[in-house]
Amino acid sequence: MIWNESRECISRDELIDLQGRRLVKLVKHMYYGTEYYRKKMQQQGIEPGDIHGLEDLDKLPFTTREDLENFCSFDTHTADVWSECAARTICMSGLSGRDKILAAYPYGLSAGAPGICSGAEKTGAAAVPFSISNSSKLAAMMKESGVTAVMCTPAYLMRIARMAEEYGLLEQLQLKTAICSAEPWQESARKQLQTKLGIRIYDIYGLGEFAEFGTAGECRFQNGMHVQEDYYIPEVIDPRTQRAVPDGQKGELVLTSLCNERIPLIRCRTADITSISHNRCRCGRTTARLERISGRTQQQLFIRGKQVSSGQLETALMQLEDIRAVYRVSVKREHHLDTVEVLIGPDEPDGTLPADEEEAVKRRVAGAVRDIIGIMPNTIVAKQGKKRYFDGRKVTVIDKRTYN
Ligand SMILES: [Zn+2]
Repeated sequence: MIWNESRECISRDELIDLQGRRLVKLVKHMYYGTEYYRKKMQQQGIEPGDIHGLEDLDKLPFTTREDLENFCSFDTHTADVWSECAARTICMSGLSGRDKILAAYPYGLSAGAPGICSGAEKTGAAAVPFSISNSSKLAAMMKESGVTAVMCTPAYLMRIARMAEEYGLLEQLQLKTAICSAEPWQESARKQLQTKLGIRIYDIYGLGEFAEFGTAGECRFQNGMHVQEDYYIPEVIDPRTQRAVPDGQKGELVLTSLCNERIPLIRCRTADITSISHNRCRCGRTTARLERISGRTQQQLFIRGKQVSSGQLETALMQLEDIRAVYRVSVKREHHLDTVEVLIGPDEPDGTLPADEEEAVKRRVAGAVRDIIGIMPNTIVAKQGKKRYFDGRKVTVIDKRTYN
């Protein structure tokens, strides 16, 4: 079923007109309402009058994650856009009002749960936000409550499958669908897991704290994620030239969110690598499709003269396999000297690192980062209120120096 046919199957001409009108309004709103953004536009010699429609999109400056930190407050999703996107995604994956959906997101992504629940409510389906520190109970709980669909990360779905197998519950689950977000994963892994669980698994894309879940989602043909183009303008660029690449060619995804005035993203560089297709899909939707995210672009940092890539930091921290944590690495400049801070948070909803392990974890994390960057970072274990600093990725690297 197509939840909103007038929008999801809109003609290309009508869509370009709609996106153009929304873009003009958004740019005015940002220019007159946000000093930070006004300055950024003025630096490029642009004012709202220069933006007449979608054809002028590439005149606008890119927004980086560092910019977002400087001019956005977090946790302010536009609820109606969010629930509409979630409702479309739920229908896209073949679910309906008869389904019971479990929204099980790890730490940092758990902000997605309310949006999913309100989207499910719209379609008549029941949604259960799930956060439990003892995930071993999850498979049993799914069986007892008759859950038919689950929304989670691929890694979490693999855990569910492992647990169900371990407790002999694989045959007893009523699960038929999973909607997986956020992590790059292999098609072969999806196929394997589909067979093991006897379900269909669909990809979904959202930017965690910055944009709604269901910014893009897969239909039953599992052939790329349809972008909700009446709300978002997708571009795929070559990160070096910053110019658009042709359909089918991989590049960095850039998103403009048209209807979220509280977190307005204009040409936001996501660092996610994908390709785009405007070919019409067999499901009847006319919206552009994104290939599954295949990785991240590398950010090059110079820390006290040494060149380090964000990928090196990511690899080093990923190797600490037994530490169940997410990391946020911030590079700062204090008294003309580069410093690095690593914030460590648990990777489970409502989870905390055991207090008696904190010191050992901090030492190991600091050692792994020091081996890459050559200086000892300051490591901090995040307390509950710091949740907003994690955007669902295992490792986030932020360079704050330009603005100090
Ligand atoms: Zn489709």
